[in-house]
Amino acid sequence: MAKSEKRKVVLVGTGMVGMSYAYCLLNQNVCEELVLIDVDKKRAEGEAMDLNHGLAFASSNMRIYAGGYRDCQDADIVAICAGVAQQPGETRLDLLKRNAKVFKSIVDPVTASGFNGIFLVATNPVDIMTRITYALSGFNPRRVLGSGTALDTARLRYLLGEYLNVDPRNVHAYVIGEHGDSEFVPWSQAFLATKPITELCDSSEDVCMDRLSEIAAEVQGAAYKIIEAKKATYYGIGMAMTRITKAILGDENSVLTVSAMLRGEYGQTDVFAGVPCIINRNGIQRILEISLNEEEQQKFEDSCRILRDSYDQMR
Ligand code: NAD
Repeated sequence: MAKSEKRKVVLVGTGMVGMSYAYCLLNQNVCEELVLIDVDKKRAEGEAMDLNHGLAFASSNMRIYAGGYRDCQDADIVAICAGVAQQPGETRLDLLKRNAKVFKSIVDPVTASGFNGIFLVATNPVDIMTRITYALSGFNPRRVLGSGTALDTARLRYLLGEYLNVDPRNVHAYVIGEHGDSEFVPWSQAFLATKPITELCDSSEDVCMDRLSEIAAEVQGAAYKIIEAKKATYYGIGMAMTRITKAILGDENSVLTVSAMLRGEYGQTDVFAGVPCIINRNGIQRILEISLNEEEQQKFEDSCRILRDSYDQMR
């Protein structure tokens, strides 16, 4: 964390995702200083002007300006949303090679600035881009995290809340693994308050496993559906990134499913994947290892293998 009291976020990539995040940071009063960087400098300048013109209506003041990599030196968080958006029909892994090149041109100057904060990555395929950020920066892996399955988990809780007719905040369930096609829900660890959701299937006629599986499939296909309808997804991820940012800057010790480097957890190494983590001002305070049954453990291993293979293919 930076030494000053001022909370400072640098955003690299002022496209749809980046600016949804920035707009949300402003509306939720998350930091005192927000720097916008983009390879398209004019775009970053225009976005800074646009946000500044909303300050008179905001609930607090924020210093917002288009800057350069030297501004990262005293930042608490550098959030990377730069890259190319997923095209209709294109898988997240197809994006890898295009986005890997972009990252070298970003992470090198950020670290050269003397930046000593936390990297937060949204660019897809996010687990691999986060691992690339870790490799390029040489940072402690606890200070490099990706949005992972945070948004997928929010989608899951919302859909389960609707189905079970309860407030999603009382639904405790996670999407884990790759943010992508091999992600899955470990149902053995899904709870309504303290009641296992699988037990509800056994005891209630209104809740059935088939519908739960459909909900998991809906979550997994949500991005494709939104992209088909409106070409890109950005509000949800902007809010998920803001939630993670608040957990870091507020030193919250909140549990969020971010992309984190596994160092033996779930029997995995050399991979970044979405898992429930305790997040605070140091980044990932700890990976919370939930108890997977045999089938879930196998699915998690498969997901990690896919991520490891695509990272290796890219090199
Ligand atoms: P976008 O095209 O609107 O914006 C990308 C921005 O990155 C552009 O402003 C572009 O100029 C900038 N950029 C490109 N190369 C750069 C460089 N070298 N340095 C600095 N800036 C550079 O795209 P978008 O819709 O905002 O999506 C951004 C990324 O977020 C994509 O990879 C997308 O797949 C991903 N995404 C992730 C999630 C998630 O859940 N993690 C959800 C939605 C989208």
